[in-house]
Amino acid sequence: MSDCIFCKIVKGEIPSEKVYEDDIVYAFKDISPEAPVHVLIIPKKHISNLNELKQEDENIIAHVFMIAKKLVKEFKIDEKGYRIVTNCGEDGGQTVNHIHFHLLGGRVLQWPPG
Ligand code: 5GP
Ligand code: ZN
Repeated sequence: MSDCIFCKIVKGEIPSEKVYEDDIVYAFKDISPEAPVHVLIIPKKHISNLNELKQEDENIIAHVFMIAKKLVKEFKIDEKGYRIVTNCGEDGGQTVNHIHFHLLGGRVLQWPPG
C-alpha cells in the first residue's frame, strides 16, 4: 500500500534497523523501544490488522512466529522470557495499520498492560 509507513520500510523508502528479512517477513527495531529488546515483525504483504487476515494468509502468520522463535534466541531472551503482542484497532492501541507483532523482552514486563 503506497501510503503505509511499514510498506515503505519494507521497500527501503524509510530507513529502519533491520534484524531479519526473507521473502515473507521483515523484522526491525521499534523506533521508540518500550524494552531493551523491542522488535517489530511484519509480513511484507500489506494486511491492515487481524480483522483483515484471510485464510490464505495463515501460513504467513505461522512463519512470523517461527521467525520470532529464532529472534528470541538471537537476542538471548528465550530463557528469561518475552512477550509477543499485536494491537488491533482503536481500543487495542493500533497506530500503524499494517499488521505487526511486537517482540518485547530484556526486562520484567507488567501484566496486565494498561
Ligand atoms: P502499534 O501502536 O500500532 O501497535 O505499534 C506501532 C509501533 O511502530 C510503535 O511501537 C512505534 O514506535 C513504531 N513505529 C512507528 N513508526 C515507526 C518507524 O518509522 N520506524 C520504526 N522503526 N518504528 C516505528
Ligand atoms: Zn503496509
